[in-house]
Amino acid sequence: MGYKLKYFLKYLLWLDFFKASGLAFKYFFKKKATINYPYEKGRISPRFRGEHALRRYANGEERCIACKLCEAICPAQAIVIDAEVREDGSRKTTRYDIDMTKCIYCGFCQEACPVDAIVEGPNFEFATETREELFYTKEKLLENGDKWENAISENIKLDAPYK
Ligand code: SF4
Ligand code: SF4
Repeated sequence: MGYKLKYFLKYLLWLDFFKASGLAFKYFFKKKATINYPYEKGRISPRFRGEHALRRYANGEERCIACKLCEAICPAQAIVIDAEVREDGSRKTTRYDIDMTKCIYCGFCQEACPVDAIVEGPNFEFATETREELFYTKEKLLENGDKWENAISENIKLDAPYK
C-alpha cells in the first residue's frame, strides 16, 4: 500500500473521530431523551387504557347500575356480572369479575357504560407473579376505583371536549 493511501486512511479515521466527539459533546449538554424509570415516569395521554377500575359517586355509592352493557359488548368475554334488585328498586351487581388474562384493552366496556362506572384507568404497573392475581373481582375493581379516582376523573374531564 502506498504511503499516500495510508495517510489518506488515517486522515479519514481522525475525521470520523472528531465528528463523533463533536456529536457527543453537543448532546452532553442537551436535555436527556431518556428517563430513569421506575423512579421517573413519562407522561401518558388522558385516553390511556390501563388497568380497570369501578368508580363510586362522591357519597360512596357505587356508580354501576348493573345494566350489563359492558358484559355484552366485551369482545373477549372477559366480564361476568351477576345482579340483584335492591329494596329501593335499584339494580346492583352482586358479582363483577374481569378476567384480565382475556382482556385486550379495547376500551369498549368503558365506552358502553352509561354512568362512567367501569373505566380503564391510568395505571399500567399491575404485572403479577401468578395467573390467579389477574382474575379481578368486584372488590378489587372498587379498590382500584377508590385509589385512582382523582386521576380518572381528571382524565375524563380532559377528554370530555373531544367526545
Ligand atoms: S377493555 Fe375490551 S376486552 Fe377488556 S374488559 Fe373491556 S371490553 Fe372487554
Ligand atoms: S359497569 Fe356500566 S355498563 Fe357495566 S353493568 Fe355497570 S353500569 Fe352497566
